[in-house]
Amino acid sequence: MTPPGHPERLERAEVMDVIAANWRAGGGEVLPPRPATDDELGRVHDRGYLGRIADIAGRAVALDPDTYTSPESAEIARLAAGAALVAVERVMSAGGSALALVRPPGHHAERDRAMGFCIYNNVALSAAHGRALGARRVAIVDYDVHHGNGTQHIFESDASVLYVSTHQFPYYPGTGAADEIGKREGEGFTVNLPLDAGATGDDYRVVFQEVIVPVLKQFKPDLVLVSAGFDAHERDPLGGMRLTTDAFAAMTGELRLVAEECSNGRLALVTEGGYDLGAFASSLEAVVDVLAAPRPSLNWPSPGAEPARGRAAADLTKSALAPFWRL
Ligand SMILES: [Zn+2]
Repeated sequence: MTPPGHPERLERAEVMDVIAANWRAGGGEVLPPRPATDDELGRVHDRGYLGRIADIAGRAVALDPDTYTSPESAEIARLAAGAALVAVERVMSAGGSALALVRPPGHHAERDRAMGFCIYNNVALSAAHGRALGARRVAIVDYDVHHGNGTQHIFESDASVLYVSTHQFPYYPGTGAADEIGKREGEGFTVNLPLDAGATGDDYRVVFQEVIVPVLKQFKPDLVLVSAGFDAHERDPLGGMRLTTDAFAAMTGELRLVAEECSNGRLALVTEGGYDLGAFASSLEAVVDVLAAPRPSLNWPSPGAEPARGRAAADLTKSALAPFWRL
């Protein structure tokens, strides 16, 4: 059972329920989740690991020092993964965008172990599903404040899945340096933007406009996925960044524009972290507005001081990736 005071708590699901209810009340479509199948989970996770998770069904255990289960966790994690797959199915068949409102989050989950509140790697499973449904190239952009170690490791040798992450660095989980650029055939297809604590919307604007968007346009994804974590918000109790709600809208708008240019608009967001309930709710509302607007707007917060953190991260990443992308 999750101990009292744990940030990844039930109230986060209640926030997401309100977002979905408001969307439905406005005439929007809300699709139910389905459980991910063993074969779908097996595209990303080891069979032995899947067996271990199946064995904890009905029990409350600690999978790692941060990751606790309740008796329902095995079933809920399978539904969370399945909800992300439903989002991918929708955008692959109908185009446009979708938002999978899920917990537990996923991007720390490795092929063979749970980690950092995550059991199954929802966004990695989504990328594998997109590939199975015909996407030749899938881009994952992860703007959660933490580095998505699991997602990076799962695809680090795979040139068909580009992984791009902005994250506080150094910070949990410790991975995500600019010189982690992928391995073997996947070299160049891991793009890390490690930002010092205290980064603002201006810093994120620099890394999006100078690195992330240009790399995405050169990669030309058939499907864009987002690990949509909101713990880089200035009010978040875990993250040390200073993003406002508007910055999440601006980042999402940039990614919508890339999807419209490269992938017929196919854009699926999967929630990750976000532990201040008010900031989580307002950021999700802003993201929904960006996805639903007739045209995406790019209202980055107005520039303030010199964005030194963004500049430093962009420079490190550009030099690490110089052999692979025109930046
Ligand atoms: Zn996070």
